[in-house]
This record gives sequence, structure tokens and C-alpha cells, in this order.
Amino acid sequence: MKESLETLREEIPDRIAHCETGPEIEHLRVEYLGRKGKLTLLLRGLRDLPPEERPQAGEQLNRLRRVTEEQIAARLAELKGREKERILSEERVDITLPGSRWERGRIHPLTLVMDEIIDVFAGMGFEIARGPDIEDDYHNFEALNMPKDHPARDMQDTFFVSGECLLRTHTSPVQIRVMESRKPPLQIIAPGAVYRHDDDATHSPMFHQVEGFMVDSDISFADLKGVLTHFIRQIFRPETKVRFRPSFFPFTEPSAEIDIQCVLCGGEGTSQEGQTCRVCKGSGWLEILGAGMIDPQVFRFVGYDPEKVSGFAFGMGVERIAMLKFGIEDIRLFFQNDIRFLRQFR
Ligand SMILES: [Zn+2]
Repeated sequence: MKESLETLREEIPDRIAHCETGPEIEHLRVEYLGRKGKLTLLLRGLRDLPPEERPQAGEQLNRLRRVTEEQIAARLAELKGREKERILSEERVDITLPGSRWERGRIHPLTLVMDEIIDVFAGMGFEIARGPDIEDDYHNFEALNMPKDHPARDMQDTFFVSGECLLRTHTSPVQIRVMESRKPPLQIIAPGAVYRHDDDATHSPMFHQVEGFMVDSDISFADLKGVLTHFIRQIFRPETKVRFRPSFFPFTEPSAEIDIQCVLCGGEGTSQEGQTCRVCKGSGWLEILGAGMIDPQVFRFVGYDPEKVSGFAFGMGVERIAMLKFGIEDIRLFFQNDIRFLRQFR
């Protein structure tokens, strides 16, 4: 008993001093003071001593236990203090350093133009409608007066998803969806992405359109001309000349293509140096919109009586308008995310 006590007395402080972490100390505590710890077992062995030796041995053992507990607590506090100091020095923040700047983002040029288009039509009382990017054949073609064998389907190289599903080739199906669920009067624009199998400097497989239409009991071609001329003069210049040319779309009759005076040469067809204008190719005009009076057949598809309602519809490519407005010659610049290009717009 005495020998064991001596050994522990020397051994314990030495081992505590060598502990470098909290878990090590805890391990040590269990080794000596735990339920089966060395000191605990010695204390329990007191009852095997002759009665006259018990008080002294008991006192010594208890003192050793107290001292050990104190030493462990002290070492633990010391280690914690050291850890705190380490964290403080390692994670020190120099508040005199200059702060890091937040890069301010810019709005994408297509979004800028899209918002501007929406603003102009909202100002004329049009509301916004949206439809799914994945359409069915019926809404994208059939109900727009393009049956399965219609040659106009070839004009829109379609991405088919599966069976009757396809990526919409224009925003016109939104027209059908709105008319199916609501009654006139309607004044709607439908902005969104459309998809065609086409890829060069002026065509992108994904691009944006704004579709619009107005339906009521007494809408005429004069309303179409008034609304679209006002729109064009808001987006380009107030004095921009506008030209309506007869055209063909399966879902409008009569149909028109709308040109504006060339934004580069001002309608001259030649540059100041006398060369053929590279934007309008010398014609002085730029095609900007397709439009027309909604075909009676389309009204029948959505359950309207073509004898009682009339209306016009139009569609435009947002990329094309943005290219003309900003003088951009390659549509792919919009989608390459070159920060030097995007930074120019605000
Ligand atoms: Zn021109």
C-alpha cells in the first residue's frame, strides 16, 4: 500500500504535466480517479488493512486524490487558455486593411430590351401572359391553322421532345392558351424563349420572342397599325419611318411584315462614304415585326365566333431588336457570357 502510494505520488504530477490536450487529461482522470482507477482501487483496499493503519493511510490517499483533482483542473484550464490564445492570434483580423469590393452586376442586354418592350405595351394597357416552353403539337401548330402537312411547318425547324411534345418554335401558342381559357376583350403580350434548329451569326437555337394580340368585338387593321407604330417609335426614335408590307402567316389574314427605316444609314441605303449599308444591305429598310388580323379559323379552334370578334396578333424577335438597337452584328455574343461584352450595357 505504502509503496503504491509513493509511486502514484511521483507518477501523477509528471503525467499530468505531459498531457497536451483535453481528451488526454480526461483519459488520465479515468485511469486514476475513475470507478476502476488506480487511486480508487487503493481507497477501496483500505478495508483490508489492519484497523490501526487505516486512518493514516486513508488520510494520505484522500489527500492525494484531492491534489490530483486540483492538478487536473489546473492543467485543463491552462490548456484551454493556450488554445484560446492560439485561435486569437491565428484568426486575427486586421481591421485597418481595405475591404473587399462587391462587384455590381449588370442587367443582360436582352433583359434590358425585353423589359423595355414590355414597358411600352404595358403603357398601352397590355397584360403579360406566359406559357410552357415544352408545347404540344396542337397548341404550337394545329390550333394556329397549321395542320400536320402544312408547308409552313417547314419554316420552323422544330426540336421534338417525344411524341406530340416539342420545344415551342414561337410564342404564338400562348395566344391559343389564353383564348381557350378567357373571353374577349383581351390585350395580351407573351414574352419568352423559343427554339429552332438553326445556328449562325443571326440565328440562335434558343432565342426570345414577344408575342402580342388584341381581341374584341371591333378591332381593325387600323388598330394594329396604330399600336405597332407607337411601339416602334417608343423603342427606336420618335421620327422612325414605318412600312407595312403584305406577307403570309398561317394564323393571320391579312398578314403584314413591318419594316423600319434602317437604323444605321437612316434609309439612305449607303454609308457616308458611299458604300452599300451593311445593316440593310442597301434597301434602306429593316424587317422588325410580323403581324396580321387573326385568322377566323384560329378563333374557331378556341371556340370564339369569328362573326362576333376580331383581333390582330404580332410577333417579334427580341435578339433582332437588341442587335439593331445596340448595333450588334453577331447574335452569339448574347449567349457567350463574355464579361467585356456584357459590361457595356446599363
Ligand atoms: Zn442601312
